Amino acid sequence: MTDNDPLHAIDTMSEECGVFGVYGHPEAANLTYLGLYALQHRGQEASGILTYDGKAFHHERNRGRVADIFSESCLNRLKGHAAIGHNRYSTTGGNKLENVQPIVVNYALGTLGMVHNGNLINGNFLRDELEAYGAIFQSSMDSEVIVHLIAHSKRRHVAERVIESLGRIRGAYCLLFLTEEGLIGARDPYGVRPLSLGKIKGGGYVLASETCTFDLIEAEFVRDIEPGEIVQIDEKGVSSFKPFPKVAPAQCVFEYVYFSRPDSNLFGKNVYAVRKRMGRELLKESQVEADMVIPVPDSGVPAALGYAEASLIPYDTALIRNHYVGRTFIEPQQSIRHFGVKIKLNAIRELIEGKRVIVVDDSLVRGTTARKIVKMIRTAGAKEIHVRISSPPIVSPCFYGIDTPTRNELVASTHNVEEIRKYITADSLAYLSTEGMFRAVYNNSSEYENKHFCTACFSEDYPIPFTGEERVQLGLFEDQALPN
Ligand code: AMP
Repeated sequence: MTDNDPLHAIDTMSEECGVFGVYGHPEAANLTYLGLYALQHRGQEASGILTYDGKAFHHERNRGRVADIFSESCLNRLKGHAAIGHNRYSTTGGNKLENVQPIVVNYALGTLGMVHNGNLINGNFLRDELEAYGAIFQSSMDSEVIVHLIAHSKRRHVAERVIESLGRIRGAYCLLFLTEEGLIGARDPYGVRPLSLGKIKGGGYVLASETCTFDLIEAEFVRDIEPGEIVQIDEKGVSSFKPFPKVAPAQCVFEYVYFSRPDSNLFGKNVYAVRKRMGRELLKESQVEADMVIPVPDSGVPAALGYAEASLIPYDTALIRNHYVGRTFIEPQQSIRHFGVKIKLNAIRELIEGKRVIVVDDSLVRGTTARKIVKMIRTAGAKEIHVRISSPPIVSPCFYGIDTPTRNELVASTHNVEEIRKYITADSLAYLSTEGMFRAVYNNSSEYENKHFCTACFSEDYPIPFTGEERVQLGLFEDQALPN
């Protein structure tokens, strides 16, 4: 693929991220460091922190994990009562240093720092337009168009400039801005990605992608930032603006399925509890006789527990995960079959041999992990292998900030359940239905309604409208054969 290839353009734009910001605490950098540490699962490739001490801004960003980037002396240098931070996971080609956030610029009103979780639909189009008027971009991030729009605005206050600029962008965003005036947080009108507000015990406020960060820094959960809401936090406290026309919210249901940490409370529900209920619903829909329920660690654990508890079939962690696997490892020269999955997971033969096992995972994307795990469990002597997935088939890519492969790599986009079962070589395969997923989310069938969530990856029903041109750019894909 070339850089001009539209699919490649989308690839480089696609990001999973975590954002965190503090206002009104003397150790803003340290708290942000801890917040990013707790959000490491949302992005492992790069991190950055920007602070403001009332006189000057201080900035550190780099590629790598949070604990490796910020040393004690570096955190001491990041002085100030206000800070924003970012964890980034970028896909191919996007992990250059200039693409590491926070983005920091000097413009007519002073200094502006920004972090972004999400993905813009019209980022490339706005970029072309801004470049035509002479804007010079420093990165290939779609997020950079937002700071250009703010710099170009003629409004007198930064919050007004932010509102005006956000009126021009479409897509999924949770944004934090740090300026001389304070901290601003914004959530897109659909509320696709999560953003919560907390109050720090020692004084000050925090804005974060997930509430698990509040536990670590001893902050009290105040509330979720509402879809379409902009909050400004400064010495006067928290002010809220809702400048955009109201649309039906479309919060990402995949945050519950896979992405968020189980100890976070998201969109008003605890993630672990939702996942466990997904396992219970899965059992109701696809019971099978077996001797043992095994989770795929760690992603399948809560659902497998829910499934096992409801079925009364014994649960056992017969797949063991090596938690110290980095992104790169040296493969022996004489290649070992299925080395990639073996280095991460190993099956305990003593538990599995001769048994009928149910293997539970949260999702099936390309299908390659499940295929390798089934082979591994079969080799360990299982008599029957029944794969259960605690979410519906993923049929379409996410354009709103979750890193999913292109449509032709999503096994369920071009194959039915029986074809996938054959591909992964399981004795049976079943997914949770969309209805079952929402029964689990709402925990009460009388409350059941689907309208508050984005289910695009399961339904192809994209809540944020595309123009014809964007639709072409976002990808119409050819069918493709299954990978080996
Ligand atoms: P695959 O082999 O492509 O079918 O991947 C399935 C595995 O990937 C499951 O164990 C999921 O927990 C995990 N998974 C699902 N979504 C993502 C994602 N966006 N990034 C990384 N892993 C994921």
